[in-house]
Amino acid sequence: MPHSVGDLAEVLDNLGVFSMHPEQVLALCPSGFRRVPITQGDEFYLSLQGFTANQPAYAHTHPDSEEWVVVLEGAGKALLADNPVPLEGSLVIGRATAHPHGFVSGDGPMTLLSIQLPRPSEPATTWDQPGETTDPIDCHSGGTCRRCYRCGGHSHNHRARVFVCENCTLEF
Ligand SMILES: [Zn+2]
Ligand SMILES: [Zn+2]
Repeated sequence: MPHSVGDLAEVLDNLGVFSMHPEQVLALCPSGFRRVPITQGDEFYLSLQGFTANQPAYAHTHPDSEEWVVVLEGAGKALLADNPVPLEGSLVIGRATAHPHGFVSGDGPMTLLSIQLPRPSEPATTWDQPGETTDPIDCHSGGTCRRCYRCGGHSHNHRARVFVCENCTLEF
């Protein structure tokens, strides 16, 4: 099975077996939610998604991909169409293609396992919720960071001028 550079699964090429707690690899940051890919191909995208308290992932739509989300830790809300679904530990949520969706964490950190089938196409994704950015802060991960106004993702300062979203690749 081919592994992409930077995915957690890359370590399997060396270690064979690997375990971790999501918070050890997610490096939660108050600026924006963080996503760490586990493994991906044209037909699938598995990732961990981590939120600090009251942190949004702005609603969007993948016309080409369905998703299963497992709440690993914490609580919050899934914003699916007009009916928010409360999220709590070990809940599993399935979402069909073309259903708008977003998330917001509750009063504490929240971690999710996301299984997307097939891997969503970035150009086909529509962004349905006007989000907002945050002021840049010094990041535990180095440099400065702020929130992506399009998806809510953690965005690092890049070459001291633009910020690049780790989740949706928006530069701003
Ligand atoms: Zn940060
Ligand atoms: Zn983004």
